[in-house]
Amino acid sequence: MCGIVGYIGDKKAQPILLNSLGKLEYRGYDSCGIAIANNDIEVFKDLVRVKALTESLKPHDGKAGIGHTRWATHGEPSKINAHPHTDCKGKIAVVHNGTINNFLQLREMLAAEGHNIVSETDTEVIPHLIEKYYDGDFEKAVTRAVKDIDGAYTMIAMMAGEHKLIAARQESPLIIGVGDRENFLASDVPALLDYTSRVIYLEDGDIAVVTASDVKITHDGVPIEREEQKISWNIEDAQKGGYEHFMLKEIHEQPKVIRDTLTDFLSNSKPVVELAGVEGSTLENMIIIGCGTSYHAGLVGKYVIEELLDIPVRVEMADEFNYSGQASPGTQAIVITQSGETRDALKAIQRLKAKGCRVIAITNVIGSTVTRVADRVIYMRAGPEISVAASKTFTAELISLYWLALPYARVDTARLDKLVRDIRQLPVKVQQVLDNEDKIAAFAKKLAKFDNVFYIGKGVNYPVALEGALKIKEISYIHAEGYAAGELKHGPFSLLGEKTPVVAVVTRDATYEAIVTSIKEIKARRSPVFAFVGEDDDSTGDLADYVFKIPGVDPFLSPIVNSVALQLLAYFTAKERGCPIDFPRNLAKSVTVE
Ligand code: GLU
Repeated sequence: MCGIVGYIGDKKAQPILLNSLGKLEYRGYDSCGIAIANNDIEVFKDLVRVKALTESLKPHDGKAGIGHTRWATHGEPSKINAHPHTDCKGKIAVVHNGTINNFLQLREMLAAEGHNIVSETDTEVIPHLIEKYYDGDFEKAVTRAVKDIDGAYTMIAMMAGEHKLIAARQESPLIIGVGDRENFLASDVPALLDYTSRVIYLEDGDIAVVTASDVKITHDGVPIEREEQKISWNIEDAQKGGYEHFMLKEIHEQPKVIRDTLTDFLSNSKPVVELAGVEGSTLENMIIIGCGTSYHAGLVGKYVIEELLDIPVRVEMADEFNYSGQASPGTQAIVITQSGETRDALKAIQRLKAKGCRVIAITNVIGSTVTRVADRVIYMRAGPEISVAASKTFTAELISLYWLALPYARVDTARLDKLVRDIRQLPVKVQQVLDNEDKIAAFAKKLAKFDNVFYIGKGVNYPVALEGALKIKEISYIHAEGYAAGELKHGPFSLLGEKTPVVAVVTRDATYEAIVTSIKEIKARRSPVFAFVGEDDDSTGDLADYVFKIPGVDPFLSPIVNSVALQLLAYFTAKERGCPIDFPRNLAKSVTVE
């Protein structure tokens, strides 16, 4: 969470910092600010979004600077709490991503020594610590200051008169963008795409001293080389491309994402088994771990793997697993994290490894932290996802899970061939849903009037109901709950009635009769029903108030097509309610705090 950027080079820093910050707003948008150095340091920050800050500033000539877009953890969003923060003399400026556990002790110590700390943030102790330790050597002072800090302190510091930026990474991502007579720093790749495709990922404990012409990295005081990598994403990937919102663009990208993710798997000369790194594992049991949307993808994975491989699969929310989860040695673990930086997921990997499990990570971001801590990595090819509410990465996670499971499937060849054929058909089927989005938009106009809604599904589509409910609550602020269809009568029925609609995902598999029965019971309680049914289903329509037909796919693959329809339902409902779809209140993407 939170976006930090830095620039030092032969160009004016201000437009570059603001442009890059704008690309990172999905990481936090409570407030924002920049600091620019000439001989002195000037800070411009406010309780506004990046666009408003940009419009309010006069051009500045400085050629080095840092910037921040905040997701508050310590102190409410306000101008004074916005970053950058400075030392007493305003000579040192710092932007920070993370949380400092011992900030109260540090604050007390610094205050007792006469430092005037003005904000409520944990961050502000950092520039004061650097000031405390500064004896003429800026780098030494930063290195000494971070020794005092317990917690996550990924940050960039600069100092008046020093023509360098000093970055330290601890538990949140930080990337150096390498340019020609200029260098960049950023929390994430989209901030760099306009300027360079050459990047260096810092690792925990690294300190980087970055000048216009040089990058010097040390770890525990020892100089270290970190490999330069090439980014394959392009500028268009991180732009709206004519769509009103990133979310709609990303929903529409899904046929391509499925194709790209599949092509990658299919074109790799190594068998998938090796790719996935499952070889050597007994595959007697499996655990899948994720958070939010990735957790829901994991739940779909459970149904898929249990049926195809005939083994038990547990799915856990990372945060819960981190406190009480158990796993026996040899368990094959799959950890799903879109950003590769999700704090809870990374902690889960530590716990899994301590228990002797092998970890396969599924992620969208090459070079992210998870790629260094997992035993093997499966990359989805979703491209950058800017919208805070995930859409295309959910689909890519599902494709990755299907592809992971298929080589081990204990089903007959005919069934396997059909599944592979149907997976290849998915881009076309998803496109058919997208082509009919007007119909879903019309449903959304009705749904937008309600304050509460249930989503129900069954079997492999139960997690789809959970994900559908999450999507609509994230962006439209309608209170939504996802349920396994049969569970609704064990309590939630007390809430049914004309004012509580139900969105039902109905698939023609073994669950069909049961979910149709549930819809009948729901209708008897007068709840409006929005049904998403298979194209060959001519009877459920008579029960429901609104019916959308989903193109036919193997029921096993239906979570992908159904989810796209529910993403559109959430999107158009939020639009109808006038919500800020890409940047919902209180949320941020890439959750790097606990
Ligand atoms: N803990 C800091 C604050 O509350 C940084 C939060 C962030 O990562 O945006 O200002």
